Amino acid sequence: MKYEAVIGLEIHCELKTKTKIFCGCATGFGADQNTHVCPVCLGLPGVLPTINKRVVEFAIKAGLATNCEINKYSKFDRKNYYYPDLPKNWQTSQYDLPIAIHGWVDIDTEDGRKRIRLTRIHMEEDAGKLVHSGTNIKNSLTSNVDYNRTGVPLLEIVSEPDLRSAEEARTYMEKIKTIMQYIDVSNCRMEEGNLRADVNVSLRPVGSETLGTRTEMKNINSFKGLEDAINYEVERQREVLEDGGHIVQETRTWDPERGMTLSMRSKENAHDYRYMPEPDLPPIVTTDEQIAKYRDELPELPDARRERLEKDYGLSDYDAGIITGSRASAEYFDAVVAAGADAKLAANWMMGDLAKNLNAENLTIEQSPVDAKRLGAMIGLISKGTISSKIAKKVFKEMWTCPDDPEKIVKDKGLVQITDTSAIEGIVDEVIAANEKAVNDYKGGNKKAIGALVGQVMKKTRGKANPQMVNKLLAQKLNG
Ligand code: ADP
Ligand code: ZN
Ligand code: MG
Repeated sequence: MKYEAVIGLEIHCELKTKTKIFCGCATGFGADQNTHVCPVCLGLPGVLPTINKRVVEFAIKAGLATNCEINKYSKFDRKNYYYPDLPKNWQTSQYDLPIAIHGWVDIDTEDGRKRIRLTRIHMEEDAGKLVHSGTNIKNSLTSNVDYNRTGVPLLEIVSEPDLRSAEEARTYMEKIKTIMQYIDVSNCRMEEGNLRADVNVSLRPVGSETLGTRTEMKNINSFKGLEDAINYEVERQREVLEDGGHIVQETRTWDPERGMTLSMRSKENAHDYRYMPEPDLPPIVTTDEQIAKYRDELPELPDARRERLEKDYGLSDYDAGIITGSRASAEYFDAVVAAGADAKLAANWMMGDLAKNLNAENLTIEQSPVDAKRLGAMIGLISKGTISSKIAKKVFKEMWTCPDDPEKIVKDKGLVQITDTSAIEGIVDEVIAANEKAVNDYKGGNKKAIGALVGQVMKKTRGKANPQMVNKLLAQKLNG
């Protein structure tokens, strides 16, 4: 039997508010253990939470940016469970009336654009962190609890089981990350755990409409981990099913070192959590005006921006998709164009030399030693004919380590393109004299032979001759 994978993601996205969701403690990452704590986030008796308004604002904006309906009446609930990183023994979350429902985002797949439905987005508090003396709880003599993260605001973004492969799941999670970055509600630093996913995977016979039994892998915090975990789990389930077995609904953990998922516990159901309304927080009531205001404050979103680049600049859908893949990259592009660069050249340079150099040094575009203004100026020099595109590569390389403007670099290094006919003519004559075979080939009808001659002239001028001019001069002389 042929099986298809069915995948749904619960993405946890840490919000970049200054303070926690129900108290005034700071949210910053990397502080000394248990320094961002107070009686509220430590869950001491007798304290009362107050909702951070910013969290509601960010949640509504996230809902609007993912085409959700906003629930104008929403409330918090207690999700009860026991674990040492959860001092109250319940997590304040949302259950039956989440802030946003029924959204969607579009992703690019091998078979074109695909719409992934969002079930809901809800607000909740993060738990603390166990700090083991060993590498995991089993091989540790002691474990400390760090409550700094307790009460850091999270959005949980739940997808319908619309994803069909590891690649689609990755693309979907990247899209969510991009949108959250654009609307500026999260730092989305996966290495700091700002964005992590619980991944639900099941298999079913191709053509079947019913869902198979799923397993869930919690807290996956890298794109690679996401893909690897799904691929492993799909294969594991396929083998079980092909052997005539059945899948046990359970929570599994992804072990990146061993490259496999391991059973942790049988999966809990909603009733195990004894959800109950949170009595210490009032319901969240939002008005149409408030929602409209938040909608107005949203920036241009990735899909719209991509379309604009296609329409205004004639970029291909693919190129526009890459450029708008992060807000930083989209803004860099706009700044390169604003600095006077041709848009298509700007896109080519960004996806070519710039991307290559950034990747090689593992830098983000914000850390690029060549900023948008200088790249724009350099591309301007190509368009003006001051430098050839070949020389531009040298200039770019120079700019990578030298903060000077491209004009200065071109001048200092003597890289100005030779556009003086008489200067090129002498070299053209030399090359014609020294390359009898190519000349005869050309004259004998093989017009392509001119390429070798152009190459020779370029070599002799160390790339500085204007190639169009060389072509023209050569053709004149050979045909004349
Ligand atoms: P929880 O996992 O917290 O109990 P849900 O039952 O709402 O919550 O499911 C959460 C996620 O699991 C959703 O993203 C949903 O799309 C996905 N999901 C549910 N059933 C399946 C299934 N049979 N196969 C794959 N994913 C599933
Ligand atoms: Zn606190
Ligand atoms: Mg789940």
